[in-house]
Amino acid sequence: MSPVQYKTDIAIVGGGIAGLWLLNLLRDRGFDTVLLEKRALGNGQTVASQGMIHGGIKYALGGLLTDASETIAAMPARWQACLDGCGELDLRGVKTLSTDYYLFSDARLTSKITAFFGSKAIDGRVKPVSKEHAPEALRHQDFKGLIYQLQDLVLDPVSLLEQLARRHADSIRIGDIKLDSHDSSVRAITLADGSLVKAKLYIFAAGSGNGPMIDQLQLPVTMQQRPLHQVVVHGGDLPALFAHAVSLRSADKPRLTITTHGTANGNHAWYLGGQLAETGVDRSDASQIRHAKTELSAIFPWLSFDRCQFSTHRIDRAEPGQKDQGRPDTPYARRFDNSLVCWPTKLTLAPMLGDMVLKEIDFEGSGSAQTNFGSNYRIGEAPWEADHEA
Ligand SMILES: Cc1cc2nc3c(=O)[nH]c(=O)nc-3n(C[C@H](O)[C@H](O)[C@H](O)COP(=O)(O)OP(=O)(O)OC[C@H]3O[C@@H](n4cnc5c(N)ncnc54)[C@H](O)[C@@H]3O)c2cc1C
Repeated sequence: MSPVQYKTDIAIVGGGIAGLWLLNLLRDRGFDTVLLEKRALGNGQTVASQGMIHGGIKYALGGLLTDASETIAAMPARWQACLDGCGELDLRGVKTLSTDYYLFSDARLTSKITAFFGSKAIDGRVKPVSKEHAPEALRHQDFKGLIYQLQDLVLDPVSLLEQLARRHADSIRIGDIKLDSHDSSVRAITLADGSLVKAKLYIFAAGSGNGPMIDQLQLPVTMQQRPLHQVVVHGGDLPALFAHAVSLRSADKPRLTITTHGTANGNHAWYLGGQLAETGVDRSDASQIRHAKTELSAIFPWLSFDRCQFSTHRIDRAEPGQKDQGRPDTPYARRFDNSLVCWPTKLTLAPMLGDMVLKEIDFEGSGSAQTNFGSNYRIGEAPWEADHEA
C-alpha cells in the first residue's frame, strides 16, 4: 500500500487499558480518533495485570482510610454499570472471573484492623465470612484465620482488551511509529509504511513508552517505574481462588495476592502478586520460585503444590514520578501544547482517567466521519499462557 496522509481529531499512542478506554470514550463522543500500538494491545502492564477492579480496602490495611482507598472506592460500581451495558462504555461480553474477592489472615489480625473492618467508616465495603461460606481453598479444618469478603471484582484482562478493541478495530494500527516534532509540539506521526497521521491532539498513553516521547518533546513530566516479579502456578488440582493473604508479618500490605486465570489449553493457573512480587524483584527466577513455594506451603499447609509447575514474569509499573517513588493515588493526565501525557496508574482507575482527559479537550469532534485503517489488531500474551517448566 502506498503511504497515505490521515487527518484526524485525536491520535492515541499506546494500546493498553488507557489507550483503548480513551479510544472508546472519545469515538463515542464524536471525536475522530485513531490508536497506534507498536507491538500488541495490552502488551505491557494490562495483559499482565491481575484484573482486579478494587474498592481500595487493600490500601487501608494499616487500619485507616487513605487517599488511595477513598479515590478508588467508587470504581467497582462504575465498572459494573459498564459490564451491565448501562455505563459510560459498553463492556458487555467482558469475562468476569469472579464477583467475590476475599481477604484472609493466616492467624488473628491486629485488634486495630478488626475494629476498623467492623467500623462504620467502611460500611458495606468489607463483610466477615464464615468458614462454611468460604472459598474452597480456605474451607479446610486446619485453617484457623479470619476471612472477609471485599466489594472487588476480577475481570479477565484479555477479554477486556478484546472487547474494547473489537468495537473500533478499524481505527487501530499496529507497528512502529516515529514522532515528528518541533520544540514541544508534535507535527505528525509517521507509521511504518511511511503514512502520516496528523491530529489536533496527540495522547501519549503508552505506559513506559511515554518516557522517550516526553524526552523528545522535553515536557516537564517525570515518569517512575516500579518493578514486580510475579509468579504463575500451573497444574495440580488447585481450586480457583481470588484473595489477598495478609498476616501480622506482612503489616499493611497483602503478603500474597492471588487470582485464578483459565488458560488456552483448558487448565487454570494461580497468578501471584502482592509482597511476594514486590520483594522478589532482586531474586533470580529460580530463587523467586523457591520463595513462592515456601510462602504457599506456609499459608496453605493443607494444599499440595508438588504437581504444580511454576514460572515467573517480570514487569514494571509505569506511572507519574512521585517524590518518594511511592504509589500514586490518582490517574495522571496533563495537557501541553498539542499533546497530553497520561497514566491510569491502576486498571481500576481507567474511568477516572477518562473524566480527566475529557476535561482537557478544548475542541469539538468532527462527528461521524472516522478514520479507517482497515487493519487487524492483535492482543499481547498473558503471563499464564507463556511456556513454563515442570
Ligand atoms: C503485575 C501487575 C498487576 C496489576 N494488577 C492490577 C490489578 O489487579 N488491578 C488494577 O487496578 N491495576 C493493576 N495493575 C496496574 C495496571 O495494570 C496498570 O496501571 C495499567 O494496565 C496501565 O495501563 P496502560 O495502558 O497505561 O499501560 P500498558 O498496559 O503498559 O500499555 C501501554 C501500551 O503502549 C504500547 N507502547 C509503548 N510504547 C509505544 C510506542 N512508542 N508506540 C506505540 N505503542 C507503544 C505498549 O506496547 C503497550 O501495549 C497491575 C500492574 C501490574 C504490572
